[in-house]
Amino acid sequence: MALGTSVGSFQRMKLQNKSNILNMIRLQGPVSRVEMANLTGLTPPTVTNIVAELLESNLVVESELGESTGGRKPIMLRLNATGFYVLGVYAGISKVKAVSASLDGTIRQRAVLRIPKDPSAEKFVGLVKNALRQVMEETGANKDKYLGIGVGMHGLVDTEQGISIFAPNLKLHDIPLKALLEEEFNLPVEMENDVRALALAESWFGQGQGIANFICINIASGLGAGIVLDHKLYEGSSFTAGEIGHTTIDIDGPQCTCGNHGCLEALAAGPAIAQRARNRIRQGQSSLLKAWTHANLEAITAKMVHEAAEQGDELAIGVLADTGRYLGIGIANLLNTLNPSRIILTGGVSRAGQFVLEPLKETVARRALEAPARAVSIVTSQMGEDASAIGAFTLVLRRIFTPLGVNEL
Ligand SMILES: [Zn+2]
Repeated sequence: MALGTSVGSFQRMKLQNKSNILNMIRLQGPVSRVEMANLTGLTPPTVTNIVAELLESNLVVESELGESTGGRKPIMLRLNATGFYVLGVYAGISKVKAVSASLDGTIRQRAVLRIPKDPSAEKFVGLVKNALRQVMEETGANKDKYLGIGVGMHGLVDTEQGISIFAPNLKLHDIPLKALLEEEFNLPVEMENDVRALALAESWFGQGQGIANFICINIASGLGAGIVLDHKLYEGSSFTAGEIGHTTIDIDGPQCTCGNHGCLEALAAGPAIAQRARNRIRQGQSSLLKAWTHANLEAITAKMVHEAAEQGDELAIGVLADTGRYLGIGIANLLNTLNPSRIILTGGVSRAGQFVLEPLKETVARRALEAPARAVSIVTSQMGEDASAIGAFTLVLRRIFTPLGVNEL
């Protein structure tokens, strides 16, 4: 061991070995001690010591005997996945959703509470606590079976202090949610921006599994991205990495909620799609949308534009094709900058399928440099309605299994 190796780095190494072993049992179990020593390069006594600690904590259990390679059959180890629970809370624009899940990521219970318009901070925190209490009650497990709470919160989040710095759609500032929930539930709490939590969910359970460099783009009423580089969620130096919704696509474009003009969000998020449809109808183009809303154009939503496109409505098809082209420009910029091997599209707009996806891919092929364009696959998320809540509890799984941030053996 080199001179100057600190106790800190020794403890860090021990922690890393322990989480590597635990993560290997999670991903590859049932697995024997000998196999783990071979796979990790750790000595058999080190593996035996770590496994003894894990058995004592009951996170790992001995299971059936494995195949013998000549001597006596080895004892296999597996994760005690159903012996413990993690809790996840997705705090979005209009609702708080809490879930409990076993350690393999299977959701056990859900509770959803609506957020009233312009809530006070107290009211909002009360809803989060109530949703968690409700889901814990329905799960029915002893308090000591919960390993932590993860919160995915929209807006700007200080992940180190666990503070919601700014939640624009609730108009709330500086809520120390981590401290408040830790005090209430006496459990460790992790916090992250909701879109970055989505990227984490894709990394553990979705189409980002095993992929070192990918970007998850959420296109809904807002537009943002979670960036995974070298198997780690990239936060940036002040927690704003991934705000691609506010990169400029058209300097003369419509005004964005951030005050600038022609941001990607102002061109490709749900409200922008609805607005472009309204504008074209006002310019005299015909569309099913006019009849559907009895000419009350303000009632048009992005979802309705998609439905009209499916009926063959040319205006709607054109609006979605433009959306795809704007997204294609934004994604081409990302490919040239970060060279990811996958882009995962999530959120309501990503459900518009080929109407958006085809023009998007054509634009990427035309505008990105050839090498990064060839290296990437662009897919839509398959995770469904619970994705944000899954991302939230995966924050807890990450702390338990990969505290140093790497979900890859
Ligand atoms: Zn903007």
